[in-house]
Amino acid sequence: MVGGGPAGSRAAALLAKDWDVAVLEEHQESGRPVQCTGLVSPRVLEMAGVRQTPLNVLHGAEIEFPGGRRIAVSSPEPKAVVIDRADFDRQLAERAMDAGAEFFYGRRYLSRRWEGRSRIHYREDGQVGEECARLLVGADGHGSKVAMEAGDPRPREWVRGLQVDLPIADGSDTVEIHVGSETAPGFFAWRLPCGDFTRVGLCVGWDHGPPADYLRAFLKKLSLEDVKPLDKHCGKIPLGGRGRTYGDGVLLVGDAAGQVKPVSGGGLFPGLTSARCLAAVAGEALREDRCDAASLKAYERMWRKELGKELARGYRLRRVFLRMSDEDMAKASAMVDRPDVQRLLNSGDIDRPSDLAAPLLRKVPGLLRFSPRLVSAMVMR
Ligand SMILES: Cc1cc2nc3c(=O)[nH]c(=O)nc-3n(C[C@H](O)[C@H](O)[C@H](O)COP(=O)(O)OP(=O)(O)OC[C@H]3O[C@@H](n4cnc5c(N)ncnc54)[C@H](O)[C@@H]3O)c2cc1C
Repeated sequence: MVGGGPAGSRAAALLAKDWDVAVLEEHQESGRPVQCTGLVSPRVLEMAGVRQTPLNVLHGAEIEFPGGRRIAVSSPEPKAVVIDRADFDRQLAERAMDAGAEFFYGRRYLSRRWEGRSRIHYREDGQVGEECARLLVGADGHGSKVAMEAGDPRPREWVRGLQVDLPIADGSDTVEIHVGSETAPGFFAWRLPCGDFTRVGLCVGWDHGPPADYLRAFLKKLSLEDVKPLDKHCGKIPLGGRGRTYGDGVLLVGDAAGQVKPVSGGGLFPGLTSARCLAAVAGEALREDRCDAASLKAYERMWRKELGKELARGYRLRRVFLRMSDEDMAKASAMVDRPDVQRLLNSGDIDRPSDLAAPLLRKVPGLLRFSPRLVSAMVMR
């Protein structure tokens, strides 16, 4: 297993019950550096088997569109929780160790040669070492080296993110989202109440350069530019998926496999879901001693059955979003600013946002004007 992040640790925990599992992690611990906002559905904590009191529980969101219109969605049920991501990753790694997986921190994966078994080369303390494995799992994140070697050099696109934690206590239950080309071109910005502090950040599309200037401007817009941050995180999110997530003796999972929700950039729910699929297929392949690509293909079928439709529809939605000008977004926000539409939006699930697309278009057919071809394709499939 390459990568001791959430996807790798979860797959390791499931596989280590029956198999010898070694996890190569280039950092000295799991969970650091943090590259995440920590906003997940409550089910993610359950799926991970992590016990943690969330930093905050959210019941809604307020979305600000270009022109200043705000649409609020809320529900009596908790819609999301804010997790301590470093602790989350640490606990996942501990679960895997408890199940018998061996973690090698400070060991950086370099390459592999497939000879019916994988000969894996790594670097540790300046020395190159070699290990042999029947199956290699690439859980090495958005810039996956394992995926590159498996012949799939990159996801369709990346967005770049930057966020700061500010010493402003905020226990409210609503996250603010801001969209528009001036604030966060190609994605969105957030102000997230985290209980004892406030997290402010954004992601921008790759073509728009580094996010630092946008974050400075966003902090100014919120009149927070003079507050000294407690912490700062940055990172990349792969969007649009990868062509293939298996090969001879190799499987990809999590960000390495492009298993990320394209609308929100959330990767924890799809990564953990896919880790379960991976463990099922890998276990079977190891039992039968058949780890060739044809035998491992079942993994791709299995995770796509669970997530493929959502990720594909989400990416089509993203393409519609990318084509919209600020003026289009302002017009669209005026169209959906109705109590009946709000009731529909309140029922949304952050792990399956595209489920709302078809009922939304039925209620507000005028939205079709923004991209009739793409939107209809999305609804039909
Ligand atoms: C700014 C930002 C905000 C985000 N917010 C959210 C959010 O609110 N909710 C959500 O669900 N998701 C969010 N995400 C996405 C989420 O963080 C990822 O989807 C998630 O971390 C993917 O888990 P993973 O295990 O696949 O990869 P990672 O967490 O990236 O773990 C990969 C691991 O592999 C290791 N590694 C990489 N290369 C090598 C190598 N060659 N050798 C050894 N080890 C290696 C890395 O050190 C790392 O520990 C956000 C991402 C960013 C950038």
